[in-house]
Amino acid sequence: VQAVFRSNLSHLLELMGSGKESLIFMKKRTKRLTAQWALAAQRLAQKLGSVWRDQKQILVHIGFLTEESGDVFSPRVLKGGPLGEMVQWADILATLYVLGHGLRITVSLKELQSNLGVPPGRGNCPLTMPLPFDLIYTDYHGLQQMKQHMGLSFKKYRCRIRVIDTFGTEPAYNHEEYATLHGYRTNWGYWNLNPKQFMTMFPHTPDNSFMGFVSEELNETEKQLIRGGKASNMAVVYGKEASIWKLQGKDKFLGVLNKYMEIHGTVYYESQRPPEVPAFVKNHGLLPQPEFQQLLRKAKLFIGFGFPYEGPAPLEAIANGCVFLQARFSPPHSSLNHEFFRGKPTSRELFSQHPYAENFIGKPHVWTVDYNNSEEFEAAIKAIMRTQVDPYLPYEYSCEGMLERIHAYIQHQDFCAAPGPVPPGARAPQSPFVLAPNATHLEWAQNASSAPGAWPPAHSLRAWLATAGRACTDACLDHGLICEPSFFPFLNSRDAFQKLQVPCDSTESEMNHLYPAFAQPGRECFLQKEPLLFSCAGSSTKYHRLCPCRDFRKGQVALCQDCL
Ligand code: UDP
Repeated sequence: VQAVFRSNLSHLLELMGSGKESLIFMKKRTKRLTAQWALAAQRLAQKLGSVWRDQKQILVHIGFLTEESGDVFSPRVLKGGPLGEMVQWADILATLYVLGHGLRITVSLKELQSNLGVPPGRGNCPLTMPLPFDLIYTDYHGLQQMKQHMGLSFKKYRCRIRVIDTFGTEPAYNHEEYATLHGYRTNWGYWNLNPKQFMTMFPHTPDNSFMGFVSEELNETEKQLIRGGKASNMAVVYGKEASIWKLQGKDKFLGVLNKYMEIHGTVYYESQRPPEVPAFVKNHGLLPQPEFQQLLRKAKLFIGFGFPYEGPAPLEAIANGCVFLQARFSPPHSSLNHEFFRGKPTSRELFSQHPYAENFIGKPHVWTVDYNNSEEFEAAIKAIMRTQVDPYLPYEYSCEGMLERIHAYIQHQDFCAAPGPVPPGARAPQSPFVLAPNATHLEWAQNASSAPGAWPPAHSLRAWLATAGRACTDACLDHGLICEPSFFPFLNSRDAFQKLQVPCDSTESEMNHLYPAFAQPGRECFLQKEPLLFSCAGSSTKYHRLCPCRDFRKGQVALCQDCL
């Protein structure tokens, strides 16, 4: 069946059910964004033209909202708890619905079981039964519940599951045996899924799929109004929970800021002013989302104190014409040195509170400075007050961008297909790539046939041998490209090393998430033995990694030029 774009969301609102505070928050958001979604659907429909889109049957099981996993969020929604997750789930539901797919939504174990067809009273059904869904979107809590209650079906159908995973899961943590042997075991990882089945809130490592969310968009009139209505001396502090005000050293930079600007906060409080918030700050309390947007429209500056990490609010601020000012982290924060990331299945290092804002947006919208350096901080404030900045929203965080990306995933990502034959390269006499004319990297040979149906199409492959200690994520960015893990199999051969003129004295095949790679001392080349361990993330000074890169669309890093 062909999927048809939908622009009326009232049926979706019914499907979302009612009762919980979290669902009420999500429904309000969906309702408010209806016109925006409808317009985006229209535009995307035009862009895609007559492309065939399969209609899928989709189950969305929001595990963290189930009583069985403690539903710790719902009671916190009114207190400024993590609304980011709720924002994202609301937008995922809207996306799937607007794209025209068949949708079921569950927020309790009982509903999950009845939708999966698990007979009542049979907690752990040992039989495999036909699954009435092509795709299941869930989170780590939901994944655990499915594993417990689907019996053998779980193994059979887990390739249909997509896991919404804010901060991402790197391949080294996902592979059970490897994680256990090499100290990458955490409370979350080791599911042996294809790492692309994990979907993140921001484009972290391309080993995972970038899901994202949307920000409210402004029309021209609103943009005009903002230009006229900004108070150049008004700052809003990022963070709804009083705890962020406990930050050490904040008095110094707050004192500087207070010299120049009127400081506003949206910190949740019960009856009294939170004691952590200084008296000179105008605290509005936690605001309903639309009122928060209004506040951002008037403000010039949105300032981060270092926590929370990587939420939606800075993108909303920038979309409403604010400058986002944030602290540079030195040394970087990671699961090694920060409580928040401890036990999360990633080794990623954050060099600032919001790396996406720093690296993908940057100046004039985003300033990342050393807060301990009062001069640098003060100079930034002065410069920001002088600059005129227009509202900006990266395409990938617009409704159209999110619809486009998820459309592409749904039509092209298939983790159930039996693994194909060993990719050409290892033994094939005709390898599919050649050394580029400037002899620095490999590219797909013009006369080589691309593997049919492969997505992203293999002809966008460019491969480099990275310098020692460089991760493939960074090595590709150095060339203005993005790492593409699905291309690793093409490179995992002696032939690739040979074509790149790497002097391998010996070639070994082992399990290591940094392979394929070359080790200078000993002139050894290493191939990857376990396809699940192909990883863009990760580095060691011991290795020059062999890195597969591809191009990407401007403002839509998840998709290559020919990926639509
Ligand atoms: N937000 C809100 N009221 C406020 C402050 C923020 O509704 O007073 C919303 C904001 O619009 C954003 C969401 O809370 O979409 C999540 O914000 P944040 O970036 O702080 O992420 P979190 O830490 O909650 O995941």
